[in-house]
Amino acid sequence: MEQEVRVRFAPSPTGPLHIGGVRTALYNFLFARKMGGKMILRIEDTDQTRFVPGAEEYIQEALKWCGIELDESPWTGGPHGPYRQSERKPDYMQYALQLVEEGKAYYAFDTPEELDAMRERLKAARVATPQYNAITRMQMKNSLTLPEDEVKARLESGDPYVIRIKIPRKEEVRLNDMIRGWVMVHSATLDDKVLMKSDGMPTYHLANIVDDHLMKITHVIRGEEWLPSAPLHVLLYEYFGWKDSMPRFAHLPLLLKPDGNGKLSKRDAEKHGFPIFPLEWTDPATGEKVDGFREEGYLPEAFLNFLAFLGWSPGTNDEMFNLEELINTFTIERIGKSGTKFDIDKAKWYNQQYLRKRSDEELGQMLQSQLKQNGIEATPETATRVAVEVKERAVFPADLWKEGAVFFVRPTAYDESVAQKKWNEEAANIISGFKDALKTLGQVNAETAKNTLNEVLEKNNVKIGRVMQAVRLALTGAGSGPDLMNIIEIVGKEETVARLEQALQTLQTK
Ligand code: GLU
Repeated sequence: MEQEVRVRFAPSPTGPLHIGGVRTALYNFLFARKMGGKMILRIEDTDQTRFVPGAEEYIQEALKWCGIELDESPWTGGPHGPYRQSERKPDYMQYALQLVEEGKAYYAFDTPEELDAMRERLKAARVATPQYNAITRMQMKNSLTLPEDEVKARLESGDPYVIRIKIPRKEEVRLNDMIRGWVMVHSATLDDKVLMKSDGMPTYHLANIVDDHLMKITHVIRGEEWLPSAPLHVLLYEYFGWKDSMPRFAHLPLLLKPDGNGKLSKRDAEKHGFPIFPLEWTDPATGEKVDGFREEGYLPEAFLNFLAFLGWSPGTNDEMFNLEELINTFTIERIGKSGTKFDIDKAKWYNQQYLRKRSDEELGQMLQSQLKQNGIEATPETATRVAVEVKERAVFPADLWKEGAVFFVRPTAYDESVAQKKWNEEAANIISGFKDALKTLGQVNAETAKNTLNEVLEKNNVKIGRVMQAVRLALTGAGSGPDLMNIIEIVGKEETVARLEQALQTLQTK
C-alpha cells in the first residue's frame, strides 16, 4: 500500500502570520489535498521568550479566512496530539538523553561568559564564524572534557546545562530537496547546536525532528530560511536511526521586495502602503494596529489565487484558479527555485476578477452593508442594481460604494475643472429645458430620459457631445462615472429634477 502523505505547517506563535507563512500553509494544504493526504498544524512554542499573546488565535483565524483546512491541529485534535510543543515538553528529554547515551550528544555546562570568551578568542585568532564545534568543544566545559564524576556531580547538584549535538568532524551531509535537487554540506561547517536548553525545553531543531517523526510526516514543505538547518535535521534523523522514514524536503523560494532586491519585509509593506498580514493585527506590546488583506477588502479566494502564484505556476498562461482547480493542478515540481517579487497590483487584479465573479445578490449585499455604514437606506433590489451597474469599476467591495454613491446622494460639490470647461450658457439652457420636459413626464426610465434629452437637444439644435459632461456634472458633481441614463432611472424623476435644479442654482454660467 502507498504510504499516506502527511504534511505539516509548523508556525511559531511569535507574532502575526506573515503572508509568506500563509503561502507555506497553502502549499502544504494543496499538496495534502492533491495527494489525498493529511494536513497537520503544529504550534512550535518551545521558545517561551518569544511567545506573543494572541498569535495562535491569529493563525487559526487567518487560515480559516483563507479556506485552508486542517485535518489535525491543536483546535481539531487528532491521533498524534498534543499539537502544541509546549504540551509535549515531557517527551523531548528522553530523545536527547538517548543521543547522549549513544555518544551522539553531550552535556555542556559553559556559562554565557565562557561562551563569549570562546567567541572572542576565536575572533582574535581571525576565525570568521566562531563555532562550538569538533575542535572548540574540546576546550570547553562539557561531558567530553570534564571527568565523568564531575559531570555526574554537576548534574546531581542541579548545575545548569544544555545538551548539544556532537556533529561529526568530517562527513558530507546530503539531502535531495524536491525543489532544489541535491544539497551537499560538509559537517565541518556545522556547529554543535543546542538540542535541550537549560530551562528543560527542547530547541526548535530537536522538537521539530522528534515531532515530525512521531507525527509520521512524509513531506516537509517550508520556507527557504530553513534550508541552512536542513543538514542538521538530516543528521538528527541519522542519529536517531530514523533515516528510512525521513520526510522529503521542499524549501520554498523567498518572497522578494517589489523591486526584487532582498527579502520582503514589514517595512516594505509600510513604505508602499500594502498589507503584508492576512488579517488586521494589534501589537499587544505597543497597541499599534495594522490592517490585513481582509480589512483592505481582499476576497479570500482572490488572496488564495494570488498567493498560490507567488512561487508556483501551472506551466500555462491560465491565471484564474479557484481552490479546487489549484488542488487539481498543484505539483511541488512546478514551484520555482528563485525568489518571487511581491506585486500588489497583481493582488488587486485578482481581487477585481473575483469581485466580478460574485453573484449580483452578493454584490448587492456588499453594497448594502456599505450603505448602512453611511446611514443610507436602500431596498435590496436597488442595492443590487447599483452594484451590478458599477462592478466593472470596482477593485474592492468598498469601491461599490465609492462608485455607486452618486445613485444615493445628491452632489454636495461640483468638480471645479469640469465646471470651468463645460458649464456654459448653452449647457445651462439645455439642462433647464431637460428638467422642464422631465417634469411633464410620469415615471422616467433610461429610455424615456434619453428620448426626452434628445428632443430638447434637437429643438435647440445642439449636438449631444457639447453638453453631455455638463449634464453629468449637474447630476453627479463629477466629470466621469456610471451611465447617466441609468443613474436617472435609478434615482427617479423627482431626484433627477431636484439635482438639475440645484446645479442650475449653484453653478455660475460664463
Ligand atoms: N517553527 C518553524 C517556523 O516558525 C517551522 C519551520 C519548519 O517548518 O520546520 O517557521
